[in-house]
Amino acid sequence: MIGVVGGGIAGLAAARRLQQLGHDVTVFEANEDLGGLATTYETAGDPVEAFYHHLSKSEETIVEWIDELGLDDALEWRYGSDAYYVDGVVHPMDKPWEILAYPHLSIYDKFRLGMLVLDVDVRGGIPSFDTYERLEDFEDVPVKGFVLDHTSRGCFERFFKPLLEAKFGDRWADVSAAWLLGRIKFRGERDLLKGEQLGYLAGGFGQLTDALVETVGKMDIFTESRATDIRIKDGVVDSVTVETEYGEVPHAVDGVVVATMPDVLESLTGYACDIDFQGTVCSVISMEKPLTDTYWLNIADDAPFGALIEHTNYVPPERYGGEHLLYAVKYVQGPEDDLWQMDDQAVEETWLSGIEDLFPDFDRDSVNWIQTSRNPKTAPIYERGYLEKVIPYDLSEEVADGVYYAGMASRAQYPERSLDGAIVAGETVAERIGEAQ
Ligand SMILES: Cc1cc2nc3c(=O)[nH]c(=O)nc-3n(C[C@H](O)[C@H](O)[C@H](O)COP(=O)(O)OP(=O)(O)OC[C@H]3O[C@@H](n4cnc5c(N)ncnc54)[C@H](O)[C@@H]3O)c2cc1C
Repeated sequence: MIGVVGGGIAGLAAARRLQQLGHDVTVFEANEDLGGLATTYETAGDPVEAFYHHLSKSEETIVEWIDELGLDDALEWRYGSDAYYVDGVVHPMDKPWEILAYPHLSIYDKFRLGMLVLDVDVRGGIPSFDTYERLEDFEDVPVKGFVLDHTSRGCFERFFKPLLEAKFGDRWADVSAAWLLGRIKFRGERDLLKGEQLGYLAGGFGQLTDALVETVGKMDIFTESRATDIRIKDGVVDSVTVETEYGEVPHAVDGVVVATMPDVLESLTGYACDIDFQGTVCSVISMEKPLTDTYWLNIADDAPFGALIEHTNYVPPERYGGEHLLYAVKYVQGPEDDLWQMDDQAVEETWLSGIEDLFPDFDRDSVNWIQTSRNPKTAPIYERGYLEKVIPYDLSEEVADGVYYAGMASRAQYPERSLDGAIVAGETVAERIGEAQ
């Protein structure tokens, strides 16, 4: 039997592929619920993700899996609108004329930004089309120096820096240029007139978890079963110990896939990973009316949140019984962060007064409910030299034969952690196990 530690999308994907390859599998999930970060809340209509989720057109594996799992009818590609909030004004940034009208970048800044996004290096006045092909060349290049060199100071100060700060907080300067370039490539096709298409599962991504659970089979999935130890015998994995309400139970295994954050891998096997993770505090605010007409609002202003993501400007509110759903989100760099220290009520008060400061017409009486989720490890800091720190899928050399890793510190979750990356990690590990036997 192969033991899978973690019943998030990566663990469930590994379990499904392993079964397809003929293995007996048991999934051990610490929580009562499956799906990990892809968990959902109830609304007056469809469930909504506790942490905002959409797909990018560049992600192909998840689309194949959605198809195989019979969810293809639910997959829809919708245009998600982007805007920047600066000095009291929401500036739409999707269409060429909106970008041209954006007053906080000069024409020269926009030209340099456009060339970088189109993968054209115009430094020295002679266009080069292959500078950005090999991301490895930029692994050790600091993001700030790169942006200043390859675009302009205006682009850096007024476009990239607010985005980097929203994504990485005070760790933004550690990020590599390779990550930025990878992130630009990761984003999907843009329609010149309509913006970027993003993928969503009508009815919510909870259906992906449900479909995976169904195919793996509930009999082979144990919830409220936290793995506490992995035993090695003669250099080969021998058992996984799981803590349940009945005490600690060892399960004999022929192999183990750890599909969790790296700190869990370390506590189970001693393998230490140098990647730093940040956490997230994220609330869904249900309102009777819309706040803006933008899906993704970047905030280049003083605010307690890094972005406001108005889900129902992407998926229609009718799906949620007419509720308008807004995410307020901030990434936190550690438990000492003020926001992390607050209880949910204080966090929610912070969001509401932050929204009132930016949008004086916002009426907090129009709020139906707020739900807050927080998780101390939700996203890696993609700092310079990141790829050298990635945990190998097969840990036979580092830990013992039969130990595999499919969690967020795996290669598949670069340059952006995603549901697609989780599936690719789970699938890759299952295939490595298949090849090894
Ligand atoms: C704010 C936010 C926004 C996001 N936006 C998007 C997006 O737009 N698009 C997208 O595709 N992705 C997005 N993601 C990323 C996506 O949710 C993750 O990449 C994916 O869900 C990771 O799956 P996973 O299975 O690797 O990890 P997790 O979901 O973290 O699952 C790990 C599981 O392991 C369990 N576990 C931990 N320790 C143990 C133990 N000792 N024993 C047993 N079980 C254990 C946990 O309870 C958890 O269920 C977002 C994530 C966040 C936080």
